[in-house]
Order: sequence, then C-alpha cells, then structure tokens
Amino acid sequence: MQVLEKELTQVDIKKIRSDFPLLENTMRGKPLVFLDSAASSQKPQVVIDAISEYYEKQHANVHRGVYELSQNATDAFELGRERVRKFLNASSSDEIIFTRGTSESINLVASSYGRKFLNEGDEVVISTMEHHSNIVPWQMICEERKAVLRVIPINDKGEILLEKYRALLSEKTKIVSIVHVSNSLGTINPVKQMIDIAHDHNIPVLIDGAQATLHGKVDVQDLDADFYAFSAHKVYGPTGIGVLYGKREWLERIPPYQGGGEMIETVRFDKTTYNKIPFKFEAGTPNIAGAVGLGVALEYVQSIGYDAISSHEQHLLEYATEGLMQIEGLKIYGTADKKASVISFNVDGIHPYDIGTILDKLGIAVRTGHHCTQPLMEQWNIPGTVRASFAVYNNKEDVDQLIQGVKRAVLMLS
Ligand code: PMP
Repeated sequence: MQVLEKELTQVDIKKIRSDFPLLENTMRGKPLVFLDSAASSQKPQVVIDAISEYYEKQHANVHRGVYELSQNATDAFELGRERVRKFLNASSSDEIIFTRGTSESINLVASSYGRKFLNEGDEVVISTMEHHSNIVPWQMICEERKAVLRVIPINDKGEILLEKYRALLSEKTKIVSIVHVSNSLGTINPVKQMIDIAHDHNIPVLIDGAQATLHGKVDVQDLDADFYAFSAHKVYGPTGIGVLYGKREWLERIPPYQGGGEMIETVRFDKTTYNKIPFKFEAGTPNIAGAVGLGVALEYVQSIGYDAISSHEQHLLEYATEGLMQIEGLKIYGTADKKASVISFNVDGIHPYDIGTILDKLGIAVRTGHHCTQPLMEQWNIPGTVRASFAVYNNKEDVDQLIQGVKRAVLMLS
C-alpha cells in the first residue's frame, strides 16, 4: 500500500519508538497500543533524563541566590525559556511566561485582560469547538464584567464558518479566543486568516495551541498572534508546566494575574510595584524542572522536524480513516479538509464507552467521552465519541490493532 511505503521514508519509526520507554510496557497483559496522545503524549528518554539530571546536579531556587548552584538552576530554567522562544519564533524571551499549562495560560489572559479591558456590554468571541478550558474562563470573566460571550458556529464537517465569524465581530468585540487544532475533531483552524480578520477591527486574538504543537510548526510572529497558549505535556514534555506567549505590548498593559514572590519590584504596606515581564506573571517558585524538561522536549521535536512528523502522522490518519470507514455503521465526527491526526467516531447503536472498554481489554488506549467539549457534542446530539489520536511514535501496527479491535468490539456489542 502506497501509504505505508511513504510512511517508512518519513521518520525512522523504530528509532523513535525506542526513544519512548513507556511504549515497551504491556497493558492488560497485551503490548500497549497508545492512541491517546491528544490527552497527553508519552515522554522520550532524553526528557526523563534531563529532569533527573537537573535534580541530581543542579537544583536550587532560581533568580535568588548568589551561590553558584542557584545560578546554575537559574541558567537551566532560563535556557528552557529561550528554547520555548526559539520554538515559537517569538521575538523576545520576555514574551514567554511559564504557567501550569494551557488552562492556566487562558485563565491568566481572561482574568488580567478581562479585568482591564472588558466592560458591560462588551463581547468575547470563541467558537463552538472550544475545549472547556477556552470556554469557562471567558464565561467567568464575562459574568464578572457583565460582558457577553459570542460563539462562532461550525459546519457538519467541523469547520469554522468564516463568514459567520466576520459577521460576529464589531466594535463591541474586545477579544477573540480560538483553538488552533480541535482536540475532539482534529480540525486545523485557519487561525492566521482569523487573526488577520480580527486585526482589521483592532481586536486581539488568543490562540489555544494545546493540540497544535504536537503536530505542526507554530510561528507566533508569522501568525501575528497576540497570545498563544500551550501545555508541555502534550508535546512530549512533563506535566505541570505550560506556556503563555504574549506580545510585549499586551503583557506590559495587562495587570499581574497572581501576587507573591518574584513578581514584585518593591513591596511596602502602602504600595507594591511589579517586576518587569515575564516575571510580573510568575508569582512564586516556578516549575524549574518542568522548564528544563520542556526545553529538551522541544529540542527533541525539532530534531525530528515537523515536516517529517506531520507527513508521518498524516499517513497514519489516512490509513486509519480508510480502515475505520470500512466498518458498517461507523461514523467519523470531524472531516475537515485540514485535519490533524485525531479521529473521533461512533458506531450505530453502541455507546462509545463500551467500545473503549473492549479496546482497553485488548491493550488499546483510546479516549471515550465528550473530551471536554460538551457544547460541541450537542452539535451532533451525542453524549461523546471514541477518539484515537496519533503522535510521531505510532505506527501502522497500532492502526491495524485499532481497526481489528473496533471490529471485534462491534461484533461483541451488536
Ligand atoms: N485546549 C485544548 C484544545 C486541549 O486539548 C486541552 C487539553 N485536553 C486544553 C486546552 C487544556 O490543557 P491543559 O489540561 O494541559 O491545561
């Protein structure tokens, strides 16, 4: 099959799989088939080693001590920041804020930008396919500021309706917040075009890049994004750390998110002044080991290269789509023209949870449920889907196992 020949020339899949020790594990006594990278990807040995080495040799608190160890830890932490800058092609590392993850990055913007710029009757625009992390923080701040949340509709393929988006924007719109790649459908949104459209109205745009960094190159200057959020754990890095990129002009204009050590310049009981960016947004001791691990994860991804990664994943996506479509009664949700390697599906008359449970018994890890996109599920009036998501370490055998597993589940459950 053409797909498979191409797959072999794109990445050295054997070598890549051997980089991820967890993939050698068994699950339910069977070789593990891990198809839930959209929830969290596995970690290569280089990331695991970098984190242990940091704790073995470099750990102390950062930005504080004059002693050498603290300076080494600060250097390691700031190297992580510089690696993120390079990865996103931001113009300065001052524009890179470390957070706990995408959710915290979006909460930071919703809270800080919202408190400063949202007033009664103002509007915030998001889309139907947003993750709860890009809905709820906006609902909370809209409620507080008496602003209104407006939602861009999508078509049945799971694509944003650009004309409806244009029509929603007005002088009342104070910010647009859009997912780059949908975690439930795989849709790759035309975010560059959407940012251009918003900028024509002088509206800033936040991009939720939680899923995007796993699959393709992100260039915040080329996109002209005002804010860009992502989580390390979805791009082969550790949990508990993520990034908010913000354009300097915005980061300087919005107030701090949390108070504490590190984010201040001077503290007096009558008046506190704040540190410069990015530290103004990093109250307390940061996740130093996380920043080290994230930096190494990003270097790892870049060493493979996104051309090779996306072409490998696209072949898996095509091969899996083709195979699953042969199963009677199976419907795929999310058939956008531009799609990342995520497949959501249901089989007529069978609950997604039941399929997930049988796959689990076969050692195949997929996600079932609403995938933190409940409003999106309402578009098709379904409680949830089965979702298989592929990363660079997945291979053709994983897809074959999935297809055989779903066939078996359907036989048992029909
Ligand atoms: N947005 C999207 C599109 C996501 O897929 C996720 C994670 N599933 C998030 C936001 C939230 O990311 P985190 O849980 O790492 O904060």
